[in-house]
Amino acid sequence: MADNSLRLVWVYPDLLSTYGDQGNALVVERRARQRGLDVHRLDVRSDQPIPTSGDIYLIGGGEDRPQRLAAERLRRDTGLSRAASNGAIIFSVCAGYQILGHEFINDVGERQEGLGLLDVISTRGEGERCVGDVLGDIDERLGLPQLTGFENHQGVTHLGPTARPFARVRMGKGNGTGDGTEGAYNDTVFGTYMHGPVLARNPQIADMLLKLALDVNALPPTDDRWYEALRAERIASATAPA
Ligand code: GLN
Repeated sequence: MADNSLRLVWVYPDLLSTYGDQGNALVVERRARQRGLDVHRLDVRSDQPIPTSGDIYLIGGGEDRPQRLAAERLRRDTGLSRAASNGAIIFSVCAGYQILGHEFINDVGERQEGLGLLDVISTRGEGERCVGDVLGDIDERLGLPQLTGFENHQGVTHLGPTARPFARVRMGKGNGTGDGTEGAYNDTVFGTYMHGPVLARNPQIADMLLKLALDVNALPPTDDRWYEALRAERIASATAPA
């Protein structure tokens, strides 16, 4: 990262920003500003080139057709893949997560190539759509508190040997394979099925992205009372008897 400025790229808000995922960009931006960083946020529409100089890239979820278009354009553009090979941090949600894998099943039922930035393959689940609240334990190496989120997907994601599960679900489906895993990551590329938006529900994940970008182990503390109240409310309502 150059000097005190953080370049935050929100990828394809015109195609991949359903389910409130825009909130992820707001949360990273705000938490970076609270730490005195000068944030340059770039919202890159699908008819624009993806810059390769970003520090953090965020990609949201989307319906099946926009997902197909987004994957086609990202492959053609190559900017995101080049940024990843330069060590950029990428955080992706649901359709965005599937696009970062090797392949997924698109809206016309065909196998479609993704970017191959995560060692995962997504197929179409045969069972019911995975919809509902999720609670999970994030991979211990990441040192983060309990994961809370909301999932809504038909795709099922299988992890290859170089992808680590981002979390293990206590409640909900996550990757949908039945093995309890949720999401995947490698060094700096993350994928999750969690909406919510997930970074508002889990601000410590936003801070992890900032620490990776700044290459530091700790950040100045922030007043997180509102976040904690939201987290407690979501966890309580997710676990309350129906
Ligand atoms: N279309 C994908 C699926 O259903 C992704 C959905 C989403 O982004 N919420 O699996």
